[in-house]
Amino acid sequence: IRPLIEADPEVEQAIAQELIRQQSTLEMIASENFAPAAVMQAQGSVLTNKYAEGYPGKRYYGGCEHVDVIEQLAIDRVKALFGAESANVQPHSGAQANAAAMFALLEPGDTIMGLDLAHGGHLTHGMRINFSGKLYNVIPYHVSESDLRVDMAEVEALALEHRPKLIVAGWSAYSRHLDFAEFRRIADLVDAYLMVDMAHFAGLVAAGLHPNPVPYADVVTTTTHKTLGGPRGGVILSKEKYARKINSAVFPGQQGGPLEHVIAAKAVAFKMAAEPEFQERQVRVLEGAKLLAERFLKDDVAAAGISVVNGGTDVHLVLVDLRHSELDGQQAEDTLHRIGITVNRNAVPFDPRPPMVSSGLRIGTPALAARGFGAEEFIEVADIIATALIAAASSGTNDAGTSGDTLGEHTVVELRARVTALAEKFPLYPHLSQDSSK
Ligand code: PLP
Repeated sequence: IRPLIEADPEVEQAIAQELIRQQSTLEMIASENFAPAAVMQAQGSVLTNKYAEGYPGKRYYGGCEHVDVIEQLAIDRVKALFGAESANVQPHSGAQANAAAMFALLEPGDTIMGLDLAHGGHLTHGMRINFSGKLYNVIPYHVSESDLRVDMAEVEALALEHRPKLIVAGWSAYSRHLDFAEFRRIADLVDAYLMVDMAHFAGLVAAGLHPNPVPYADVVTTTTHKTLGGPRGGVILSKEKYARKINSAVFPGQQGGPLEHVIAAKAVAFKMAAEPEFQERQVRVLEGAKLLAERFLKDDVAAAGISVVNGGTDVHLVLVDLRHSELDGQQAEDTLHRIGITVNRNAVPFDPRPPMVSSGLRIGTPALAARGFGAEEFIEVADIIATALIAAASSGTNDAGTSGDTLGEHTVVELRARVTALAEKFPLYPHLSQDSSK
């Protein structure tokens, strides 16, 4: 038994460096989180060795008695967590959960509706070169230009005109609640399935801090690694009447052997998501996002042409609107990266800049809340970001017109020190630092 450091020092080194990066910077990518040690322990277990094609009690391989227990625990826990009739915990990712759900309910060529990618939707909701855009006839819906909220009048009009077989409600970059009852009403008008992709906000739903789509939708998909804080993976929840079709669409329709080590980690995450500590953490997630939005709406930020899409947030993320700023999304992302804050640039609706540059930043609070951040720290991080963006916006663009030296060295050192102080206040995975030094 050779430890990783001996078997493969190059990979070991890169992992050690990644640990240091996660520990020493502030992770604010809205789709990321820090999995608890117990989740990582389950995921790094002997279960990675086991083939288990099929479902609990109905496997195509011997020796599945223990993985059956684990997968059943995951199924029962996620059903209880969200009040679902049926659950499939095998999808390897959110994209595969969506593919399998569509595969179960649709035929190639069927019409689907989803929120336009450029307005906050996800690739799997009908982007042209994604499987969803290639297999199905996609009619995108949008946010309205006046308030940047999903335009339910347009959803209804498009549904009546195009008679989709399935409507997807869900998003990757949007900061308000969706009206699931209204989506259900419109789906019923045209006899369409309603699929909700709650990948981003599932943790908030589990904590009772966001409306639950399960009672309204035929199918609800999610990832397990965003606000839910578990291992990377996907889940499909559905009404019992679709369970057989969905199970068969996942296996053998889409996947071979399930990742039982990941399913074990999902089971652990679902157990933890039902505990009071998780609820308390999600309260801090929401509070943090509101504090960020408040800071970014102050006059000094507005003077730099920077504002907040939707004028605030109901969820775990804030979309910073740079459409009227000198600073573009790429520059803003690079600026924050220089001071140790990781975010991603994102197109905002009606974005005048190309997607690779974009006019938005998507900033999320789940990972920092997992580290222990509360109001005091979120106020500080919001001020660090605001200070950096204002300084970068007022320094003007460099000659290349794209990312570059948008902050003076002095400001970088000062802001980086404030970031380091916050990171050190909440040590991340201290037990792993000790392990890797052995
Ligand atoms: N659905 C939504 C709404 C997402 O935001 C994402 C990921 O960003 C996915 C699905 C896909 O998840 P994965 O990256 O696990 O395939």
